[in-house]
Amino acid sequence: MKGVTVWWIALVVLLASAGWCGAGEPIALGDEVRLEPIEEGVWLVVHQFAGGNNSLLVRCDEQRFVWVDTPCTDEATRLVHEWLERTFADPNVVEINTGFHNDNLGGNGYLLSRGVLCYGSDVTPRLIAECWTETVRKVLPYFEGEANKKYRDILIRQKLVAPNRLYPLTEGLVLKVGPETVEVHFPGPSHTVDNVVVYFRGRRLLFGGCMVKALASRTPGFTGDADMVAWPASVRKVLARYPDACIVVPGHGRWGGLSLLRHTIGLLEEYNRLHP
Ligand SMILES: [Zn+2]
Repeated sequence: MKGVTVWWIALVVLLASAGWCGAGEPIALGDEVRLEPIEEGVWLVVHQFAGGNNSLLVRCDEQRFVWVDTPCTDEATRLVHEWLERTFADPNVVEINTGFHNDNLGGNGYLLSRGVLCYGSDVTPRLIAECWTETVRKVLPYFEGEANKKYRDILIRQKLVAPNRLYPLTEGLVLKVGPETVEVHFPGPSHTVDNVVVYFRGRRLLFGGCMVKALASRTPGFTGDADMVAWPASVRKVLARYPDACIVVPGHGRWGGLSLLRHTIGLLEEYNRLHP
């Protein structure tokens, strides 16, 4: 009997590690885009554009999806949107941009051409118009070397498209999508002056975006548009507002729990001590 018990335990462990008890295997869409299931109906969309860039797809009911941020380009966004249309009957998607950089909204052009509503703050279109060209100039040194040439070329040529459904940044936004309540919140300036977080209340799922660093991050990353003094205080406000969040998704790198917020605060405060 003991042997049988051991085999049962081994089988359960095997199935769990194979993802049978979780949300499933990653789905590759071409060489640069993959979907990583986080839980039932939630996919992390990772676009390799030099480094990995996260957006988040959440199924709120049979047909309705909320997509927070987009891959960096229209082409990568098309791959994910086509997967949605192949996989689900008549999917209805709304997009929420969490900032004005291309890793937040580089796919808006494609989504708008497909009739997807793109929500963004009223500050975001102005920042695209007034700051994006300068941001590209500042960010290009992060894309050094021959391997990154294609990304540099895209960055230089890319015309960003603003969201078409605007809300006042400081007021935020609440969307009811099926049974899910989706809250868009601005805690103050951070990695950019328009970065917001998005909280799925029913799922206790927080998309922190570029404001939140992965546990593996040892530096704040690109700080060319950041408010370094306000940033840690803004993340503290997010931590205080969503103490029940179970899943926290950063803009780049691996998702986790509330420890990502504490890690981000610590990392930024340390950085500010060393760079007063
Ligand atoms: Zn980013």
